[in-house]
Amino acid sequence: AAKDAGRGVYRFYADAMHDEANERKAIEDALRDALARGELRLLYQPIVDVSRERITGFEALIRWERDGGGVSPAKFIPIAEESNLIVPIGEWIIRTACATIAKLGSGYRVAVNVSPRQFANDKLPATILSAVSAAGIAPEQLELEITEGVFLDESAENLAMFQRLKRTGVRLALDDFGTGYSALGYLKKAPFDKIKIDQSFVLGAADADSMNAAIISSIVGLATALGMETTAEGVETHDDLALIRRLGCSHVQGYIYGRPMNLDGVLALIGEGGGRVVAQGYQSAR
Ligand code: C2E
Ligand code: MG
Ligand code: MG
Ligand code: MG
Repeated sequence: AAKDAGRGVYRFYADAMHDEANERKAIEDALRDALARGELRLLYQPIVDVSRERITGFEALIRWERDGGGVSPAKFIPIAEESNLIVPIGEWIIRTACATIAKLGSGYRVAVNVSPRQFANDKLPATILSAVSAAGIAPEQLELEITEGVFLDESAENLAMFQRLKRTGVRLALDDFGTGYSALGYLKKAPFDKIKIDQSFVLGAADADSMNAAIISSIVGLATALGMETTAEGVETHDDLALIRRLGCSHVQGYIYGRPMNLDGVLALIGEGGGRVVAQGYQSAR
């Protein structure tokens, strides 16, 4: 009986793994169809120069509506990564973002997220140059957000790609700073234009018992010394905004200034305010 039970457990795990693999395959197939049918969307979240309270640009964030509900990028981007679908999806993101920049005009930038497989793709610089020239924009209006994990190894390939991207004239931002291995050496070898401080350090940083203020302060000090801008992500409350401002972050991105919105929302926002924006009294759910 014990042997039967053991076999049962084995079968249970085998089936679960099988179901998991099937589900991923189903998502991958549906994602490929969604790309082909033009069902993926980009939303844009304002990035604000905190001392002037002006929008300097937007981060493009991908959305996929499936059967009436939204699938989180946190769920489908890893699947797109594994299947290499991220390469054509990433190209669509870059082209769409460049077309959006052309509509916003010369005073704004758009940042796109570049995932590790895309970063490793030899054709990425050519894709960027082609998209920038098709849209007729200045390359420095496009910013690439590269997650810290990509630079986990300071390999010659990574640093060479960094330099090739730099030569295209686009701006480079180090995303999710503080969540991976922050080998400080690569900040010297790979001079980013901006460091994005992960929201895990920002949400609730103004709470009395939080150590995050000290962490943010040292990241800002480091970035400033290296001539890099800083964006604090996930600023929701007036208290956190006041702290972030006091700590000297140059930019803020978070619900307090605006949620990710569609292109019509972006055009309405910059049309009515001319880029000026005020912090809204967003009530955090925390
Ligand atoms: P990320 O690049 O760090 O993007 C910031 C995430 O924080 C976004 O979630 C944004 O909606 C959320 N956020 C912004 N402000 C606030 C705030 O005040 N409070 C809270 N609680 N959250 C805030 P989203 O859109 O779900 O994206 C999650 C992650 O998925 C992104 O993290 C990025 O790693 C990935 N992702 C999203 N779009 C793309 C894309 O187009 N390409 C790639 N490769 N990855 C993407
Ligand atoms: Mg990002
Ligand atoms: Mg981020
Ligand atoms: Mg993040």
